[in-house]
Amino acid sequence: MSKLVKKLARAASVLALVSMVASPSAIKAQTAPTPVEVKALVGGTVIDVLNGKNISDAVVVIEGDRITAVGPRSSVAIPQGAIIIPAEGKWISPGLMNMHVHLGLNLPGASYIYNENPQARILRMTINGRKTLEAGVTTVRLTGEENGSDFVVKKAFDEGSFDGPRIATVGQIIVPTGGHGTLEADGPDGFAKAVRQQIKAGATWIKFSISGGISDTHGSIAAAPMTDDELRVGIEVAHRNGAKVTAHNGAPVAALKAMEYGVDSFEHGYYFTDPVLKMMKQKGTWLIPTMVVSQPGALEFYKRIGSPQWYLERQKVVGAEHLAMLRDAVRIGVPIALGTDQFPFEPNNGTTATVSEAETYVLAGMTPMQALQAATTMPARMLGMEADIGSITAGKYADILILPADPSKDISALRTIDLVMKGGKTVYRRAPKATN
Ligand SMILES: [Zn+2]
Repeated sequence: MSKLVKKLARAASVLALVSMVASPSAIKAQTAPTPVEVKALVGGTVIDVLNGKNISDAVVVIEGDRITAVGPRSSVAIPQGAIIIPAEGKWISPGLMNMHVHLGLNLPGASYIYNENPQARILRMTINGRKTLEAGVTTVRLTGEENGSDFVVKKAFDEGSFDGPRIATVGQIIVPTGGHGTLEADGPDGFAKAVRQQIKAGATWIKFSISGGISDTHGSIAAAPMTDDELRVGIEVAHRNGAKVTAHNGAPVAALKAMEYGVDSFEHGYYFTDPVLKMMKQKGTWLIPTMVVSQPGALEFYKRIGSPQWYLERQKVVGAEHLAMLRDAVRIGVPIALGTDQFPFEPNNGTTATVSEAETYVLAGMTPMQALQAATTMPARMLGMEADIGSITAGKYADILILPADPSKDISALRTIDLVMKGGKTVYRRAPKATN
C-alpha cells in the first residue's frame, strides 16, 4: 500500500468515526418535537365505572394517547386548539376488555382452515385484531396461541404498525401429555421448563389445563390429570418470574388444589361447586366465565361451522349447568372478568360475543353496571393494569367508546357503538361523518 493510499484510508476511517459520533446529535437538531394532538369529547355523559355513577354534560380532554382531564363542563376547560368531538346526548364508556381470546382460533368443523402456515395465521390474527377493536374491545388477554404468533402480533399492535387491541398473553397452553392444549410437559421439572420458555418468549401469564375440555374426544372434562407437584411447581415458577397463572378448569378437585398453590384465575368454571366458588371469593381468585360458548347463542355458530352432533349435544348439557354456576358465582361475590372464548366480534345472539357475554352476566344476576365493570375495571385489576386502563380517568390511556344509550342502565346499549378510540386514536366510527 502506498503512503498516499494509507493516508487516505486513515483519513476515511477518522471521518467515518467523526460522522458516527456526530450523527445522533445532528439528527436531534434537525428533528422538531412532534406536537401532541389534543382532543376534547364534549357534552356527553361519562360513565364512571370506578364509582358506579355518571357525570353528565362532561368534558374529556385527551393529549396524545392519554386522558388528561375529566369532569363536568363547568369545571374542565377545553384547551385552545383542541379537536372537538361532540358527544351531546351520548354516553362515554371505557373500551371493553375481553380476557379469554384466541386471535388465531381455528375450530374443528366445516370452516376449519387447512394447511394454514404460521405466517398466514399471523396475517389472520392481525385482521382479527382490527375487528376486535371495531367491536369496541380495546384490551384482550390471549389464552393460548401457537408458534409464538401472539408475541409477533402484540409487538405489531404495540408499535402501532397495525391497529389492534392491547394484549396480555399466555403464549402456548401448557398441559400434561394428552391434556387440553399443545405444549406438553411432564413432571415438575418439565413444567418448570415449559413455564420458563413461555416467559422467555414474552408471556406475562401462564395457562395450564388442569382438567379436560368440552371439545376433547378423550378423557373427562372433570378429570384432574396434573400431579400436585406439577401444579405446585408450575405455579411457583411462574410467580417467581412475575407472571400470573390461569387454569382451564372443570374439575372442582383440581380447582381446590390450584387455589391452595396460589393460582390467579380460572377459565370457564364448568361444574364449579359452592365450596370452590366460596374459596375463590375468599382468596380473590378470578373467574372468566366464557358463557357464550355454552349458551344457545353459540349453538347457531357451532351448526354453521359444521360441528359434529356429539359436540352440539355436549354443549347443550353443559350450557344449563354453566349458567347455574354463574348465578352461584354472582350471588357469592366471586370476582368476575369478562371473557368469551369466541372471537370478541363473533356474531352471537344478534350481537357480538363480547356484548352477548355481558348480557348473560345480567341474566345471571349482575346489575348492568356490574356487567360493565366486569368488562372494564375488573379485567384491568386482574391484569394489574388498573393505573393505565379500565376507566375514564385522568392519567389513563384514552381507550374510549361513544354510545347512543347508557349501558350502565341497560347492558344491551353496548350493541350499538358510535365510536371506538384506542390510545386517543379513533379506530372505528359508525357514522360516515368524520370530524377528526
Ligand atoms: Zn379458550
